[in-house]
Amino acid sequence: MKDTNNSQPKRKMASFFTALYKLLDSASERIENFCRDYFLKPFSWLFSRVDPLSYTIEGTVFKKILQVSIYPIFMAATFVIGFKLVEDGFTVRTFFGNIVMFLIFGAIFAPLERLIPFSRKWLKDDETTTDIMLFFGGKFWGDYISGPLKLATISIAVQEISPEIGQSIWPTSLHLVVQVLILLSVKDFFRYWYHRWMHESEFMWRWHSVHHSSTRLYWFNGTRSHPLEGLISSFLWAIPLAFVQAPVEIVFVTGLLGRTIGRFQHTNMDLILGPFDYIFSSPKNHRYHHSKNIEEGNSNYGGDVIFWDILFGTFYLPKGKQPSDEIGIGDLPNFPKTFVGLMLAPFNYGNIKKKARQPVEEEKVVAGSTV
Ligand SMILES: [Zn+2]
Ligand SMILES: [Zn+2]
Repeated sequence: MKDTNNSQPKRKMASFFTALYKLLDSASERIENFCRDYFLKPFSWLFSRVDPLSYTIEGTVFKKILQVSIYPIFMAATFVIGFKLVEDGFTVRTFFGNIVMFLIFGAIFAPLERLIPFSRKWLKDDETTTDIMLFFGGKFWGDYISGPLKLATISIAVQEISPEIGQSIWPTSLHLVVQVLILLSVKDFFRYWYHRWMHESEFMWRWHSVHHSSTRLYWFNGTRSHPLEGLISSFLWAIPLAFVQAPVEIVFVTGLLGRTIGRFQHTNMDLILGPFDYIFSSPKNHRYHHSKNIEEGNSNYGGDVIFWDILFGTFYLPKGKQPSDEIGIGDLPNFPKTFVGLMLAPFNYGNIKKKARQPVEEEKVVAGSTV
């Protein structure tokens, strides 16, 4: 094609952005290496002390008790702590209490994952530094700033506005736990379709692929996602709430329960959940959702509950089989791994796809030439 005067500034602009990207990416890599060497190593050393114990308890009743009891204990604790934190309405104590609660949960989850791991391969923390970057960048923002703020805004709005609107349709006479489970299901109906849309639309997938880029699942990477992906989902939170006008304590505890479910969804703990695998989005059914195999991956979209998948035909939990620990984006092995790379991946998705196809096409040419 003829080189026009317009194409030269365009090329200059493109090479400027490529140079900028490389600069930011290498800076991000340096910070991640610094995190690995000075921040993470002491924790890794501490948690790795638990590893020999995990072999010692292999096949014991003690392990079985842990596998069966951890999930119901933490779920029940979320209800108890949640209702306690919001007993005087939504206050400053509620706000900070829910942050402290999740820090404590994390401090317990991390060693438990080493004590009863589903995959020993996933104990290798080669992605943790990036996740720490995501934590202080996107994850910290999502989990500890915008998340609690969102929950606070919704809770206060419901507390203040609902009485003004008048009689709501919400079944306040039911047990509080039942009310939470109803709201969780209503909320997750919207999340189910949003999540399914992100898998079925190529445009939406480019944002959601950041979440699926993980090659290991553990409690800390549950919210590994692009911040823009969360924007629309936060609005979806408000839709069911505006219609049903549930009381503030129900709204708050539902949000809290959703976050506990989220921690378990990605945990590397080898839990035995029985009927819970057919009610909630559990670690076992969510591992299939992260499969490299696209047929398995396009299933189990539920974020909190799993029965919408059962109802709409996307549930996948074969009996007598265990999910593979080979996870990630099967057709994009070159997907960025650094913090900056992941943040820019949706904008650079076309190039990533093109580069992933190149070796295959070259191989095809070579293969074709030998026939
Ligand atoms: Zn997904
Ligand atoms: Zn996930």
